Amino acid sequence: MSTVEIARPDATTAQGSEPAATTDGFHLVIDALKLNGIDTIFGLVGIPITDLARLAQAEGMRFIGFRHEQNAGNAAAIHGYMTQKPGICLTVSAPGFLNGLTALANATTNCFPMILISGSSEREIVDLQQGDYEEMDQLNAAKPYAKAAYRVLHAEDIGIGIARAIRAAVSGRPGGVYLDLPAKLLAQVIDAAKGKESLVKVVDPAPRQLPSPDSVKRALDVIKGAKRPLILLGKGAAYAQADKAIRDLVEKSGIPYLPMSMAKGLLPDTHAQSASAARSYVLQESDCVVLIGARLNWLLAHGKGKTWGSAPKRFVQIDIAPTEIDSNVAIEAPLIGDIGSCVSALVAGLDANFPKPPADWISAVTEKKNKNLEKMAATLAKNPSPMNFHSALRAIRDVLKTRPDINVVNEGANTLDYARAVIDMYEPRRRFDSGTWGIMGIGMGFAIGAAVTSGTQVVAIEGDSAFGFSGMELETICRYDLPVCTIVFNNNGVYKGTDVNPTGGKDVAPTVFVKGARYDKMIEAFGGIGFNATTPEELTHALQEAIKSGKPTLINAVIDEAAGTESGRLTNLNPQSGVKK
Ligand code: ADP
Repeated sequence: MSTVEIARPDATTAQGSEPAATTDGFHLVIDALKLNGIDTIFGLVGIPITDLARLAQAEGMRFIGFRHEQNAGNAAAIHGYMTQKPGICLTVSAPGFLNGLTALANATTNCFPMILISGSSEREIVDLQQGDYEEMDQLNAAKPYAKAAYRVLHAEDIGIGIARAIRAAVSGRPGGVYLDLPAKLLAQVIDAAKGKESLVKVVDPAPRQLPSPDSVKRALDVIKGAKRPLILLGKGAAYAQADKAIRDLVEKSGIPYLPMSMAKGLLPDTHAQSASAARSYVLQESDCVVLIGARLNWLLAHGKGKTWGSAPKRFVQIDIAPTEIDSNVAIEAPLIGDIGSCVSALVAGLDANFPKPPADWISAVTEKKNKNLEKMAATLAKNPSPMNFHSALRAIRDVLKTRPDINVVNEGANTLDYARAVIDMYEPRRRFDSGTWGIMGIGMGFAIGAAVTSGTQVVAIEGDSAFGFSGMELETICRYDLPVCTIVFNNNGVYKGTDVNPTGGKDVAPTVFVKGARYDKMIEAFGGIGFNATTPEELTHALQEAIKSGKPTLINAVIDEAAGTESGRLTNLNPQSGVKK
């Protein structure tokens, strides 16, 4: 199709000497997004949104086309997390929409702002279930998985529809929003002046929310009374971009802190007050925990049980969502508001008389931390052959230490567990991983989202199983020439590659992949650079070369196929059948 066909209707519909000044749904969608500072769309074209993507590009927006909508949606979600503006994912109807919906649900679960825009079939036919092309009631399908879902039926409502979607995505607790655009809407032609007037520039889409003064006082009183206080930073704290206020709170209070995985780097992991290496100890022994943008969900053992020890705890919780408070355990001092405002209010209360944490608590944490760091150093120093998770991660850690600005994507079972502990982060919002659901499949979507958004190097540390969910996006990475280095930890299977079929039959065991697969050859098919690494030295060299090139690269890191535990650290979540493994 030529650009003539997507030019504004007023250029082509002139009948007489005066061209009719009209516009259409396609143009209004793009105009509304641009008016609100949205400059990138992640998506996958097809009926009825191909021209929307063409038009976006023609009008100066960036359109990043994917091979599967789930990955486009994940890229949009990470764009939203990094920028505080909703990431846009554009898909076709029914199956394309459903593929994107997985990413939308994940964005909502993780509190990432994102808008899934899908074309849809004609309402009249869908509602009478008369069997349209890709017929589906997408709006109702999206509702349970989105923070909000809207449909626009008239071109003059596009401006308000997009404004509502933007505000819903970023205000309060951020999340995923679905916007349904039927094919007919896109083709609707209206008067250009009326169309322009209908556009809405959203004013203050995520307003600050100040905590009440009495809630600040209550929180300070609880912290003051603590003998063994702990600050726990979640990805909400990273999202909030209140980096200085958070650093001030940690450093002025002198309280040890623990970052959740995507909050790593909010303060450098090498910070003296980081208690990461003494995680179990501080969770059990602390008597007061200040939660900042972290939910007491399964990732924190719901705030109770063995993980949290037997000593009674007092909780302070900062969150923008009031209903998060008391979700699992009683919160003595809730602070409802945006993290920047809440943390600044606490910092303002740390006057000269505010007590520092008792010295015996600080020295106990430091002692435990140093002991664990020594143990970890000994494990990392080993050089088994074949390479295992730790020796491979040591090589990666040492290269990444020299480049604190690198974005790290991480997923897998063992690959996630070990890399989270071994790879230090130094800057905020540089680590993107399996998140709240602990899922696989985010890898290449997050990597592309991070590379496109930051314009800087990404290193994606992937289990071979996890990589499989989004591996085809290597073509996307090569097509846009993105500086993404994917490292596949290849141990020939899910968890590990040594399981056998107990019947002796021809099929391999359910967890086993092709032995000795060469993932590096995949990227070569699209013009990227592949490396095969079987030792830590080869891995170091390959990663250095990959980063130096700034090109699409993939390192097939061959790991001992017996290395790896079932379900990584989540063995307790896996019911056991008694079948021999
Ligand atoms: P983690 O998995 O790292 O523990 P979670 O995703 O569980 O983090 O928690 C993030 C929390 O942060 C959510 O409860 C969310 O409501 C909150 N949040 C997100 N953005 C803000 C913000 N700007 N101000 C306050 N709270 C926020």
